[in-house]
Amino acid sequence: SQAHHQLHVIFFPFMAQGHLIPTIDMAKLFASKGSKVTILTTSYFTPFLSKKIENSAQIDIFNIRVPAAEVGLPEGIDSAHAAGTPEMTEKFFKACGKLGPQLDQILERHRPVCLVADMFFPWATDVAAKYGIPTLLFHGTCYFALCGSTSVFLHEPHKRVSSDLEPFILPNFPDQVEFTASRVPHFMRHDDSTELTKLFKALKEVEFKSYGVLVNSFYELEPAYADHYRKVLGRKAWNIGPLFLYNKGSNSDEHECLKWLDSKKPNSVVYVSFGSMANFDDEQLKEIATGLEASGQQFVWVVKKEKKEGVKEEWLPEGFEERIKGKGLIIRGWAPQVPILEHEAVGGFVTHCGWNSTQESVCAGVPMVTWPIAAEQFYNEKLVTQILRVGVEVGAKKWKRLVGDFVKRDAIERAVSRVMGGEEAEEMRSRVKRLAEMARSAVKEGGSSVLDLNALFDDLRSAHYSSYENLH
Ligand code: UDP
Repeated sequence: SQAHHQLHVIFFPFMAQGHLIPTIDMAKLFASKGSKVTILTTSYFTPFLSKKIENSAQIDIFNIRVPAAEVGLPEGIDSAHAAGTPEMTEKFFKACGKLGPQLDQILERHRPVCLVADMFFPWATDVAAKYGIPTLLFHGTCYFALCGSTSVFLHEPHKRVSSDLEPFILPNFPDQVEFTASRVPHFMRHDDSTELTKLFKALKEVEFKSYGVLVNSFYELEPAYADHYRKVLGRKAWNIGPLFLYNKGSNSDEHECLKWLDSKKPNSVVYVSFGSMANFDDEQLKEIATGLEASGQQFVWVVKKEKKEGVKEEWLPEGFEERIKGKGLIIRGWAPQVPILEHEAVGGFVTHCGWNSTQESVCAGVPMVTWPIAAEQFYNEKLVTQILRVGVEVGAKKWKRLVGDFVKRDAIERAVSRVMGGEEAEEMRSRVKRLAEMARSAVKEGGSSVLDLNALFDDLRSAHYSSYENLH
């Protein structure tokens, strides 16, 4: 009967927007291929998630509880950004490491055909293996960054330099790419026993044990790296992105900033946003404000700080809001990023190079000012500026979780000017527009990502039928 033939896939994303958003897109994509989908998340994300899946009958949400109190965090902290400092983030990862028993129960009861587990839950592969359930890993990043971090992990070039800023070439890598120890995440640089160091070792090892890796990217964007990862490094992987392109147009939020953009000329506004995690201090925010104003460009700037009426905000330069009226817009909190990037008035994006943001910019045909902060963002920057040549570096050189390397106003002004006008900008714009077309082709019938997805489903179906036959 139908029920026996329906595949059930459980998704287990890390509790952060940047991980959940592409998971929702994947869940919808899997559901559109006829499978039943369950997403495991915490109560913090349930309203956001329910809204996004729009009561799809094929997608269930299942709540899990992060045991925050067990690691000394306040009870109820159940999202990565609620853990607002690097120390709390570290503890949050530790608490997530204690989710095994909850996952075990769910898998025992539901016996899905496979588990799609976030890279941050490498132990999930062993839990699933207990029940003969294969695990697909979801890193939420591109092949380039996967190859970059593998290069550093295997060859440790950062341990053979005399200073953090001394450049080295990434070993065993398709292109000559310069990197520095300062750009390598802390948890890869130090042989200590912090939660993230242990976690990172485990996740690099589990890549071999798992069934394979799902990559939110498309082949034509980084063919040399897709091939390197699969053929040279020998990992099994499917590129099925850009995931957000499959589900466009389903959300019709009209935000006032889109109307504001309607009144602007094409390519005349720079969009400035640093994802869901970055947490700049007042001094850095003030520097951004000053740099943007000095560039003379129109801008939309997302600031993750609530406005407190009647309270002087230290980060806002004196009279800034008055002076920028009509020319710059500050969005407090959450912005509709994809529609903003796709608006024809937007001609540049100052980004922290989170992979979702980077890919969204590519797909919108918008060149970037790259300002990496942490995670694998420094690799993404190299892909954008050196390999794809669709962006310019702002000059952030040091990996530092949540706050990044301090960047001065002059550097911001210069980079914004370079990406918004002149011959170099035009060249970047035409290159990125070609990539945007390739992205659209990749997710069309017969496109590279659709073919990889079909191949994956063929594998899952045969795994499903063989386990069904074993049971009966
Ligand atoms: N995003 C958004 N509005 C915001 C901030 C972020 O829609 O105000 C979305 C953005 O479009 C992207 C995701 O949140 O899909 C952020 O993911 P990314 O990988 O870029 O960065 P992270 O937040 O994980 O650092």
